[in-house]
Amino acid sequence: MRLVEARYPLQDWARTMTPFEVLISTVLSQSTTVTNERRGFEALRARVGQVTPDRLAGVSEEDIARAIWHAGLARQKAPRIRAIAQEVRDRWAGRLDEILALPTNRARDELMSLPGVGPKTADVVLAMSGGHPTFPVDTHIARIAGRWRLTRRKDYESIRAALERWTPPEKRKAWHLAIISHGRALCKARNPRCSDCPVRRDCDWYLRHRAPEGRGVAHKRGSSTKVKSASPLSAR
Ligand code: SF4
Repeated sequence: MRLVEARYPLQDWARTMTPFEVLISTVLSQSTTVTNERRGFEALRARVGQVTPDRLAGVSEEDIARAIWHAGLARQKAPRIRAIAQEVRDRWAGRLDEILALPTNRARDELMSLPGVGPKTADVVLAMSGGHPTFPVDTHIARIAGRWRLTRRKDYESIRAALERWTPPEKRKAWHLAIISHGRALCKARNPRCSDCPVRRDCDWYLRHRAPEGRGVAHKRGSSTKVKSASPLSAR
């Protein structure tokens, strides 16, 4: 992870956003690309002025759907966004900060009680806006966790638990962002660019599928030679 972090400077996309904006942006990002999510979010902001619970609860689903069209699935996301806005306004006086001030598991439960908010969306808000030590798992992270053999399980909670086991709490947000960058730049779903990858010598997938020596390739570490097996996330 030292190599991955060095390769991708931290890009904290949530740095200038309110927790509520991060929540809405994450809902918009479901099943679409970052570019289209950003276009949808900016159009929504242009439509309502400020992305706040009050503003979004005060416009119609049709208006929201028209604004977020670029982000895809607008007919499903618009009612969800409006319902979230209403709940946050009515149950939390419009302040997500109150949820984020709770202990992590309680905050997660409260976020997941909002309409259409699942574990991934909750974890993104907790990590990006609340400073909670969660490790949100997106499609890039799930793929790379599999390639690095951090877990053989495919379900969200197992992958998250494995990543949190391997990762110091204070590093989870930074490593979440770094691994996503790595997935976008090199470790793509199809045809990963292993020849450019700084961690290929520590990557189980590379060693099994692409290394010239084939499976179980031997590595020299210092003066000793041993078969590679450890997970790269164990390197701190
Ligand atoms: S070596 Fe290939 S599969 Fe492994 S992390 Fe790098 S790009 Fe991904």
